[in-house]
Amino acid sequence: MEDCLFCKIISGEIPSKKIYEDELTYVFEDIAPTAPIHYLVIPKQHISKLDEITPENSAVIAHIYEVIAKLAKDLDLKDGFRVVSNCGEQAGQSVFHIHFHLLAGRPLAWPAG
Ligand code: IMP
Repeated sequence: MEDCLFCKIISGEIPSKKIYEDELTYVFEDIAPTAPIHYLVIPKQHISKLDEITPENSAVIAHIYEVIAKLAKDLDLKDGFRVVSNCGEQAGQSVFHIHFHLLAGRPLAWPAG
């Protein structure tokens, strides 16, 4: 999608530190990490946010969770990790291409602020 930061990262127009890629998903380091591991897992297909998931596009979301489970195994995150997807401005979403923050490597407080 034109003028979408994360679409430009997927196409390589904007550089990123790639962690993983397959035909449906792209995973890269967050530019402002808030934990020792802070990756963003995104679908290559442009979906703006969580409330735009439908029966027609939800398969990629299931695939994203398979990718996260694989990364957790590969990175040996057995102490735990968190997955967050902010939906909408009040929840803190700043980039409107759906993404899943994968956070690990330190104790993570709960409830979220
Ligand atoms: P949100 O605030 O939940 O929408 O998350 C957007 C995330 O994208 C933030 O954690 C930002 O630090 C991250 N971010 C913004 N621009 C870039 C970039 O160019 N490369 C990597 N991460 C970015």
